[in-house]
Amino acid sequence: MNIKEILYNKDSYSREEIIFLLNLSDSVEIDKLFQRAKEIRDSYFGKEIHLRGVIEFSNYCTQHCLYCGLREENLIIPRYRMSAEEILDTAKIIYNNGIRTIVLQSGEDSFFDTDLISYLIYSIKRQYDVAITLSLGQRGFDEYKTWKIAGADRYLLKHESANPKLYSIYHKKAKLDERIQHLKFLKRIGYQIASGNMIGLPNQTVADIADDILLCRELDVDMAAFGPFIPSINTPYQNMPAGDTLMTQKVMAVVRLVLKNVHIPATTALDSIDDFGREKGLSAGANVIMPNFTPAPYRENYLIYTNKRGINEDPLDIHSQIKSRIEALGHNISQSRGDSIKRSSSI
Ligand code: SAH
Repeated sequence: MNIKEILYNKDSYSREEIIFLLNLSDSVEIDKLFQRAKEIRDSYFGKEIHLRGVIEFSNYCTQHCLYCGLREENLIIPRYRMSAEEILDTAKIIYNNGIRTIVLQSGEDSFFDTDLISYLIYSIKRQYDVAITLSLGQRGFDEYKTWKIAGADRYLLKHESANPKLYSIYHKKAKLDERIQHLKFLKRIGYQIASGNMIGLPNQTVADIADDILLCRELDVDMAAFGPFIPSINTPYQNMPAGDTLMTQKVMAVVRLVLKNVHIPATTALDSIDDFGREKGLSAGANVIMPNFTPAPYRENYLIYTNKRGINEDPLDIHSQIKSRIEALGHNISQSRGDSIKRSSSI
């Protein structure tokens, strides 16, 4: 295949072409891929980077994901739930720092039931002009509806692996189909949805990653979050190797080519395996960064993986470091909510 042809003269990519791009190994060709990804990003978003402020409000989880430090079987990590008041105080800090998306993230924790989550959404939306993203795992279809009505705008639910066999291994027999049904339902009732995978999970192939990208296309995701797998202590995968920075960058760049106008985050996971992970993500076509505002003492215990960057630092310091890192690259920080540019989010 001719690299120039495939980077510049294509609107739609086949599975084979995606695999070809993911397998590029020549550094000059990889640079061309990144260059093209940035051009496409800039054509839709200019130099604007969107920030999403994350609140990890509970690390209780009833799931058993083999890669995740929050899995129920992990009896070593101290579990916490932030109070509603603490969550709302953190939302205020995010808003006061100029960020216009608040991400409420947790393990699958039914203590935060339909009403409590609705209360949080409603309270935040009543006070601040922000978008709310929920990232609470798989919950009830009625709950998704109620939270949409309460004011939630987006739902982040990574499919993690589009290979049904691997999915069932990683998730103790859970079914990929079911997760896909949740994503489709969320999209249908008007959420902007985000999905994606982890790169470098045990037994994953390049063809699997291509299928992850194709599933994101099929789901018509508004944001595509692809980050490296990082082993987490006290999990079955604790001794597995972490995902690779360059491969993660290549995946992000190919996602930009294939999905074009979606939001793509330079993830904290990428920044945790590489000192310049955010920069490298932005140089591969990302346009979103999600600073973590979870306050101490909770922050250090949201241990989805080990050596997560910034867990012992002050969220406001991290935020200002992120801002300067973005600006040093010639980008500026968007003042808007950064909604999907694919379509309107209303029902
Ligand atoms: N429980 C929610 C959200 C919290 S986990 C859910 O299921 O969606 C958020 C994300 O962290 C997951 O989607 C997963 O992709 C990522 N994650 C979990 N364990 C990880 C690990 N060991 N390395 C890298 N990312 C991980």
